[in-house]
Amino acid sequence: MSVRIHPGSFSKLSRREFIVGSTSAAFTFAMGGASGGGRAPAFELPSLPYPEQALEPVISAKTIGFHYGKHHKGYVDNLNKLTAGTEYADLPLEKIILGTAGKSDKAALFNNAAQIWNHSFYWQSLSPKGGGAPPPALAQRIEADFGSVEACKRELASAAVSQFGSGWSWLVLDGNILKTVKTGNAEVPFVKGLKPLLTIDVWEHAYYLDYQNRRADYVNAVIDQLIHWEFAFRNLGAV
Ligand code: FE
Repeated sequence: MSVRIHPGSFSKLSRREFIVGSTSAAFTFAMGGASGGGRAPAFELPSLPYPEQALEPVISAKTIGFHYGKHHKGYVDNLNKLTAGTEYADLPLEKIILGTAGKSDKAALFNNAAQIWNHSFYWQSLSPKGGGAPPPALAQRIEADFGSVEACKRELASAAVSQFGSGWSWLVLDGNILKTVKTGNAEVPFVKGLKPLLTIDVWEHAYYLDYQNRRADYVNAVIDQLIHWEFAFRNLGAV
């Protein structure tokens, strides 16, 4: 089952760069592009869509500094090393993910490519002006499929809190139905034909500096104050 991924749109990403973002705050992702000359790294760390301190007090600048500047960057650096001089260096991230998923001999490629994708998607799933109510058209869809926006938030939080160990909680589109899912480690819903709308990172590196073992506090604060419903709505609108 193929799924068009549309966080602005990842599905239409060109080799070198693509635009992700709202009309008010579009920003450029540059995720690939060694095709001309082969000297530059094939994959680049995309820009954060806001300053590192913008998500305080829910997520500290210190957490973002490590999470984005060390962890996310680390996945990019690893993938560049793993793909240097191989055919993978010329592929879009999604093709690497889809082509290596479930293959034990390609686990390092999959893990690093998927973690780049997941984190790029996560940063966009949060906003300093997030939280609150979804756009009315998205709220209608949520009410139809979950019963209420509050029920959707509870399911998203439940998936996040109940994920054993590292992973992700997602709002996805399954066919024409909105649902929440959780994935472990680097797993990405679109590998299974589910279209991601937004995500919450529940690896300990996402919250431990600020919340230690209180994952639920982090998750609930993110849902209440940072979750970027407009981003989910844009992804939904691209169906
Ligand atoms: Fe993370």
